[in-house]
Amino acid sequence: MKLYKLFILVLCFCSTAQAQNPDEKTIQSISEYIMMQGTAYDNLHYLCKNIGPRLSGSVQADKAIAATVNMLKQAGADTVYLQPCMVTHWERGPRETAYAYVNAKQKRQLNICALGNTVATPAAGIKARVVEVKSMQALHDLGIAGIQNKIVFINIPMDPRYIETFLAYSESGIGRRAGPAQAAKYGAKAVIVRSLASNIDTFPHTGVTQYNDSFPKIAAVAVSTADAEWLSTQLTKYPATEIYIKTNCKIFADKASFNVIGEIRGTEMPEQIISVGGHLDSWDLAEGAQDDGAGCVQAIEVIHCFKKLNLQPKRTIRAVLFMNEENGSKGGIAYAQHAEITKEQLIFALESDAGGFTPRGFSLQMNESQMAKVKSWSPLFYKYGVYHFVSGHAGSDVGHLHKLGTALAGLMPDSQRYFDLHHAANDVFEAVSKRELLLGAVNMTAMLWLVSEYGL
Ligand SMILES: [Zn+2]
Repeated sequence: MKLYKLFILVLCFCSTAQAQNPDEKTIQSISEYIMMQGTAYDNLHYLCKNIGPRLSGSVQADKAIAATVNMLKQAGADTVYLQPCMVTHWERGPRETAYAYVNAKQKRQLNICALGNTVATPAAGIKARVVEVKSMQALHDLGIAGIQNKIVFINIPMDPRYIETFLAYSESGIGRRAGPAQAAKYGAKAVIVRSLASNIDTFPHTGVTQYNDSFPKIAAVAVSTADAEWLSTQLTKYPATEIYIKTNCKIFADKASFNVIGEIRGTEMPEQIISVGGHLDSWDLAEGAQDDGAGCVQAIEVIHCFKKLNLQPKRTIRAVLFMNEENGSKGGIAYAQHAEITKEQLIFALESDAGGFTPRGFSLQMNESQMAKVKSWSPLFYKYGVYHFVSGHAGSDVGHLHKLGTALAGLMPDSQRYFDLHHAANDVFEAVSKRELLLGAVNMTAMLWLVSEYGL
């Protein structure tokens, strides 16, 4: 017998032997059902193309709530309901404009967008000299003498040495999160932040910044990475470069909105709840396909698959579509508050908010014995491309449950392309692969099945 034939025989024997494991059989049926008949991709198409951007407080956010209530009903959830929450309501207004005046001859338009929750410039805009910093330390070193009455350009690229791009995002993100408040402390007129993007292109990527109440609130925008590179080069040649910025955004009083919830009641321990979710709101610039329409439709797919395969969970399965993750996290906060007040037994919460790319693993935020239990299931996932079960942050919405002692997990898809489109206009339906999206839902459903069977 040739060696390769023996190898194939061994493989066949192994897969037959493993197929006798009932969990493996169940997970295989989950995979076959979702890959063949999953509705997540169609639901995502509806969210992206029939509704589009869904920033909290917008008409589209309300439409997304109504649409996903229907999707959960279609999926067969036993109960579908809305959980009230007050959400941040910020509007961009007409698109922003910015020009760089490099010297007397050269005026160039810059691709910018206001950062979320920022104030507008005065109606006439702001024009001032620009000073570039490449770290927060450099900003502090310049101080009042170097910053007062200038526009600060915070140019901190995402570090390409991080293979896990969320680490680069987190590290460079300090400029966006805290830069405007710190520049205001030294008398800056406005701030331009290099977009948190891993590629060089012309899309500005928005995201929230946090003001500090001790300092003035100044206008803050993101500039595309291509323009950031260009501007940095010009400033070395022409330090007297000036920039004009005009933004038109406005923050309103918090507005009433909802998290959308669908449940399948557990057959043996219905009081024990296992949740799975993503966030329904998205930035106003994009269709919010990868961030985070994908996570929402995957959570709905979990319900759909359980019902269609007649998988009867011992514990209650709950899909939660959180509102306001992007610029307030008030849906996640309201969800945790409700769980705390009503003393819900929320034993596990899984979040998918890292894109609908090929799933690679789960990030686990739980105690050691729970982690050991989840890791003992890991061989069941290998066939579906998921190998990494690592300790880490689960997600910003479920993160509010940490203090209640809920075991948390986040789906970890491949992260290489996520920050090419995160919070930018190119985060559209076409950027999502149907197979990758569905495979994520397969692994999420498998995880929910195992926790519903065995607890944690
Ligand atoms: Zn997100």
